[in-house]
Amino acid sequence: MTISWEPVIGLEIHVQLASKTKLFCACPNGVGDDTRPNTAVCPVCMGHPGVLPVLTEGALELAVRAGLSLNCQTNARSSFSRKHYFYPDLPKGYQITQYDEPINGAGYVEITFGPKDHLQKKKIGIHHAHLEEDAAKSTHLADHSLVDYNRSGSPLLEIVSMPDLRSPDEAYAYLTEIKRLMRWVGASNCDMEKGELRVDVNVSLRPMGQEKFGTRTELKNLNSFKAVKDALVYEINRQTEILNAGGTVKQETRLWDKVEGVSRPMRSKEDALDYRYCPEPDLPPVVLANDWLAKVKAAMPEMPSSKEARFIKAGLSAYDAGVLTSSREIADYFEEVTRGGKVSLKTASNWIQTDLLGMLHAEKKEIENSPISAAQLAELLTFAENGQINRKQAREVFDEIYAHGGKAADIIAQRGMVQVSDEGQLEQWAKEAMAANPKAVADYQKGNKAAIGALVGGVMKMSKGKANPRAISQILTKLLG
Ligand code: ADP
Ligand code: MG
Ligand code: ZN
Repeated sequence: MTISWEPVIGLEIHVQLASKTKLFCACPNGVGDDTRPNTAVCPVCMGHPGVLPVLTEGALELAVRAGLSLNCQTNARSSFSRKHYFYPDLPKGYQITQYDEPINGAGYVEITFGPKDHLQKKKIGIHHAHLEEDAAKSTHLADHSLVDYNRSGSPLLEIVSMPDLRSPDEAYAYLTEIKRLMRWVGASNCDMEKGELRVDVNVSLRPMGQEKFGTRTELKNLNSFKAVKDALVYEINRQTEILNAGGTVKQETRLWDKVEGVSRPMRSKEDALDYRYCPEPDLPPVVLANDWLAKVKAAMPEMPSSKEARFIKAGLSAYDAGVLTSSREIADYFEEVTRGGKVSLKTASNWIQTDLLGMLHAEKKEIENSPISAAQLAELLTFAENGQINRKQAREVFDEIYAHGGKAADIIAQRGMVQVSDEGQLEQWAKEAMAANPKAVADYQKGNKAAIGALVGGVMKMSKGKANPRAISQILTKLLG
């Protein structure tokens, strides 16, 4: 008998908070690789002896905003500890982190996964989300190493999930949701290429139906969603083979080699004891004032889940609502186009998804830099919605505005696009088209309704494309009786 194994996955995600300053000093935060090494530094973030860290309010506020977006309990009291280990990128010999009293307690997020027309939702628990400082960055060369302290002391929020994920697809969906939420509330840009979001994955297997978890391995520092998915698929297969052969999985930390597509043992899992955690004596506990927290809560934007629910209630599919709330900027754009009710949600949704996002994606542009503003698109779509121009013409105007700017009304007038809906004129063209194509008329009257297409085409040609196709069909149907 072969046992079928169920994966159990928990993620620890580090996001770099987008605050102006570092966590415990006034140095600029997140200066990036285009800044000269070791220029955004001071004695505090270089770990000089005798300096005192001071918690910066901006980083704290973003950590709280992030926690609120994850439905976490905000802890009125939290504190910092020292986590000791020795490495050149950690000049003090310890990292200041939150250990037993994190700023954000338990919470949850709802993930969406599965095929487009059969989306599934699931709640994933957040164990807690704590603040900590980042280490510096080492570069290892052939015979020596370099250390850049610009990143040292940057604020990180570590979001620790419950072991609630059951497949690589769920893990991927969870990452997507965390990134959407962090960006939505401005907590982090989550640019993975800049290392602003880094993931440790924990995975174990258990026999399907068993409650007790199996032994897990941890893969550290994955820096792309694809790496997370690939590493999980690989690790699940590796553990399955070991267990099927009657072996046991060793609890250890492994390294993912994305070039070879394999994981390798790095070290056996360290215990909390190895880090000699102790309270940070230089920082008093963080006690949040009620009115400060109330102000932070009041400044939270409407969350994507709430917008999604509103869009679905107004008639959009779950999939469309998901795409249109994939970022706050896209959602704002969509709502601006549909504001006032001249453009239907469905029309705006189609145009934004297939036309606008398509163009922007091809040029690697974000919607906030769209050459066609929401107001411009709304004006154009109002013409289409009223049947004054057809879809093809609307796309022509769209392309013109996208490339050179301008107003839809002017472009439509300049190009003589406004459609002929005048009944007398249309009826005359319809009669001419019927006279010119007796076969189509006969076919239609014998029951081949599709034959009307040729007659509509005839009228369109006579009108040089300006006839309103909906009106022509109506008139032809009447005449063909
Ligand atoms: P540590 O303190 O050693 O990092 P934690 O208990 O804090 O361990 O868990 C770290 C992460 O590992 C969490 O995201 C948690 O959900 C996950 N995890 C814990 N046990 C398991 C397990 N048996 N299988 C898979 N993931 C697990
Ligand atoms: Mg861990
Ligand atoms: Zn500094």
